[in-house]
Amino acid sequence: MFCTSCDARLHLADIESERRYGLGSILFIRCQNSVCSSLNDVKTGKRNNGTFDINSKLSLAMVHTGMGPVQINNLLATLNLPPVVSSTLKRREQKIDTTLETVAKKSCLEAQKEEIEKGNGKAKEKNITMMTSDVNFMPIKFRPIEDVILHFWKKSGVVSGSP
Ligand SMILES: [Zn+2]
Repeated sequence: MFCTSCDARLHLADIESERRYGLGSILFIRCQNSVCSSLNDVKTGKRNNGTFDINSKLSLAMVHTGMGPVQINNLLATLNLPPVVSSTLKRREQKIDTTLETVAKKSCLEAQKEEIEKGNGKAKEKNITMMTSDVNFMPIKFRPIEDVILHFWKKSGVVSGSP
């Protein structure tokens, strides 16, 4: 770490204050060069649109493991790490959910296209056009795969609603 004003080396012993953002922090370190003495803000990790990557990754881990904010904070407390505010975790989770949904839909559509191409050599383009239009009036084998999964889940009682 070097001073942004005079390029002198900064030391952790010279931290004057810390501003925490979940698991990320900004350290305010005073330059010990007597001519400079400027206060440098040093981030403890990468940020993306103002959000520390470590907090996004923590929320992704929360989604991946099926834990909630309370369990995540219990885990952090056990590791002697500072807690993260629940609203911060939930906000990042919503962003991740939207991204995961988009990726999953795209993946399902690609898998279905591949299935149609390999399983049925005729009228490929027609079937693909049908998938992206009115799904409820299609024969089930031409519906998007997530719709088919939901249909069978409803039929077998895994989720509520009529198939
Ligand atoms: Zn300096």
